[in-house]
Amino acid sequence: MDRFVFRDRHYYVKRDDLIDPLLSGNKYRKLYSLIQTPAETYHRIVSYGGTQSNAMLSIAALCQKKEWEFHYTSKPIPQYLKKKPTGNLKMALEMGMQLHEVTADDYEKEVGLLKSKAGDSSLFVPQGGADALAQTGIDQLAKEIHQWQLKNRIEKLNVVTPSGTGTTAYYLAAALPDVAVLTTHSVGDKAYLIQQMEVLGAKPVNLRILQNEKKHHFAKPYAEFFEIYRELKHAGIEFDLIYATHMWHTLLQHVESIEGTLLYVHSGGLIGNETMLDRYHHKGLC
Ligand SMILES: *Cc1c(COP(=O)(O)O)cnc(C)c1O
Repeated sequence: MDRFVFRDRHYYVKRDDLIDPLLSGNKYRKLYSLIQTPAETYHRIVSYGGTQSNAMLSIAALCQKKEWEFHYTSKPIPQYLKKKPTGNLKMALEMGMQLHEVTADDYEKEVGLLKSKAGDSSLFVPQGGADALAQTGIDQLAKEIHQWQLKNRIEKLNVVTPSGTGTTAYYLAAALPDVAVLTTHSVGDKAYLIQQMEVLGAKPVNLRILQNEKKHHFAKPYAEFFEIYRELKHAGIEFDLIYATHMWHTLLQHVESIEGTLLYVHSGGLIGNETMLDRYHHKGLC
């Protein structure tokens, strides 16, 4: 837990990014129950999604440690990436991930089949690890936050963390009913995030979804995000350029009206910054 001053305001930051470079942040929490699973339980993990996904990288690292096969289905990747993979994709392939590209037309159908093909020793993990499997590890994170809150006698606490699938924010809010959990949607709109969360259960009342005044597209470079990234780093902590920059940018638009202590849960993802920084560079934004 770090104290952090940003734009003249005090925050605490839970440094889950420091757990492990590959299995960092909320991916460590979401995969925690699998990390604890004996290696002989499975021989293969099957998943799907984007080819620079942080979840993909973390599952690849987990499978390498456990000596499990890792099969990952994606839409076709560009020719230049195939020739010279970068970032998360490069590392995941180096750790033995077997990539299965399917055409955009077949993607939904193939993904549907993955689940039905998974058997006893082959485990299906949904995109981004959005699964009840994630609850054990996030409950542990909630317990650490709760103990810290008691020890420091913090009465009114707000826990801030960005959402992709919303799994982390959802289980955090469910486990911490007396705390306000603030998040924002990085993928799609607010309705889409709620819909994703409702796969896990009814949305907890203490979970608040903040909206950014401006619509941003997922994982796209924006000058205002780079500025936040640069300032945060200068203030002492590096955050990821996809989820955290959007979360901080949104939070700052609402922070005046939020009462109580602010705790930001660092969700990791720093290895992905390499490819994001390339893209910012390409666009002349850094
Ligand atoms: C995966 C990820 C998220 C989103 O987590 P969800 O549980 O899918 O909402 C947020 N931040 C970072 C850095 C991530 O890698």
